[in-house]
Amino acid sequence: MAHTRSSFDALDTSEPFDVCIIGSGPTGTIIGKTLVENGLRTVILEAGSSMFNWLTDSRIKQYADFESTGNADYPEKHTKASLLGGTANFWTGRCERFHPADLEPHPYTPPENPWPITYDDLDPYYEQAERIMRVRGSSQRSSYSPPRKTPLPLPQTKDISFLTSLLADAGVEVDDSPTAIPRKSIRFFKVQKEILPEFADSPNLVLLTGAIVRRLLSNADKMITGAEVQSFGGEKKIVRARVYVLASGGIGAPRLLLLSRSEHHPNGIGNAYDRVGRGFNEHPAVNFYAQIPHQWKTIYPLSKIARTHQFYNTYRSEGLGSIMPVFRQSWILPHHNMPLKISRIPHNALAIAQRLLHATFYIGVVIEMKISDDNRVTLSEKKVDPFGDPLARVHLDYAEEDLALLERSRELVRDLYARVGASNIQEAQITFSRHLQGTCRMGTNPRTSVVDPDLRVHESPNLYLSGSEVFVTGGAMQPTLTIAAFAFRLGEHLVKRFKEGSIPALAEG
Ligand SMILES: Cc1cc2nc3c(=O)[nH]c(=O)nc-3n(C[C@H](O)[C@H](O)[C@H](O)COP(=O)(O)OP(=O)(O)OC[C@H]3O[C@@H](n4cnc5c(N)ncnc54)[C@H](O)[C@@H]3O)c2cc1C
Repeated sequence: MAHTRSSFDALDTSEPFDVCIIGSGPTGTIIGKTLVENGLRTVILEAGSSMFNWLTDSRIKQYADFESTGNADYPEKHTKASLLGGTANFWTGRCERFHPADLEPHPYTPPENPWPITYDDLDPYYEQAERIMRVRGSSQRSSYSPPRKTPLPLPQTKDISFLTSLLADAGVEVDDSPTAIPRKSIRFFKVQKEILPEFADSPNLVLLTGAIVRRLLSNADKMITGAEVQSFGGEKKIVRARVYVLASGGIGAPRLLLLSRSEHHPNGIGNAYDRVGRGFNEHPAVNFYAQIPHQWKTIYPLSKIARTHQFYNTYRSEGLGSIMPVFRQSWILPHHNMPLKISRIPHNALAIAQRLLHATFYIGVVIEMKISDDNRVTLSEKKVDPFGDPLARVHLDYAEEDLALLERSRELVRDLYARVGASNIQEAQITFSRHLQGTCRMGTNPRTSVVDPDLRVHESPNLYLSGSEVFVTGGAMQPTLTIAAFAFRLGEHLVKRFKEGSIPALAEG
């Protein structure tokens, strides 16, 4: 892209930057926009570059890899990516808010570390996030949906009336699935196409791709003094800024903090109390298919998707997490989470042929996972990146509560199928949503959290994090809208602090 730079000469400026952002996904792009438009000299360092580079350069694939352990059998493939625009190059754009109850104490809230903010605190930033992500959806939301003061920015265009009436007869109120909509493409919303161009040509911005931050440097005052950046071609520089923002994803951010251990931070930055990386959680889902009789509306529109918020808090009274059932009726497409492998072509062809006789009705349920300190990101002892630095090791076990909630979800799906008179019910494998949450949680106590309510790393006066790694609990919603809301909130906070002159001077060291 014309406005990105790949030569490290772009870093040779006479003055240090105000803010150095590491990562160009939704988090880094939205914070960057707010800072640049408010006159702050900002550098964004992105390890990856183009889609072509991602598809053809094995070194960047190796860089984005990690080691997975634990009984959840967490997938290493297609989970995180390194290119301009981040992992969100591969997202499907679903954009739901958290429920207010997610941010209030509930069975999965760690008692020693509750959320330090409320839904009302996030509400204005959710509105900004929905506007910038061009979220489309019905203005008639069910009474179970998270509350909102204004309609979604773009009106609903998809016809889900078939699912609405089928499920209403079964006593279930559904909503459409609010989705980020690109301006031109019919595919998915990409931040580098939709948001970056709005500020990319500003003289306040340097955006460097192919720039891998190998570690953050710090001094005896725990201030970050530089970001050590290197290219695969061997170029090396230290980038200096007054403030650093890690926007490196839910696995990338804790990995970089751990890689940055030094005499001043022997356990890694932000890790004086061994909190960095702990509490990793995801959104596993049960997936089912069944058959219902065809009628005109099962054939056209071709594919309809709906969700229900009705059962979101149902199982909390049993000490379990929230859930989000998803309904899809499509007679051509397999469900997007199902593996599209050549070896499955005969199976899929048979399934499609059967769909001519009976309509296929998919129900899946995404669940919230229990927060466990043992589910964590550490540094791998087996895998390294192209520089020889340890990659992340992601350990994920199911808690008893997770298995119980998956089972309760299966019971719910079977009950819903019975209510709509479906037959030939088949369960497919459990899938993960690729939502990388909770590894550097926010809180007021440095002994139980990594960042404070303003998202500043407790022990480092000039280092901030802002992605799904700061979520205290995971809810059952997709994270990126909340990530975008946090990014607006952090951008506003930094602009205010620069304006009032309360940002520390450039750190020496
Ligand atoms: C298949 C799939 C479908 C998804 N669907 C949805 C969905 O529908 N809705 C939803 O809400 N979410 C979805 N997600 C999740 C969504 O993609 C993430 O929540 C989102 O991308 C996180 O944004 P981020 O900016 O925090 O991190 P990322 O998008 O991961 O960006 C981080 C960037 O930081 C860079 N980086 C990391 N470390 C360094 C370093 N040391 N130096 C330089 N650069 C570095 C990486 O290269 C990367 O480009 C999906 C994900 C996948 C894989």
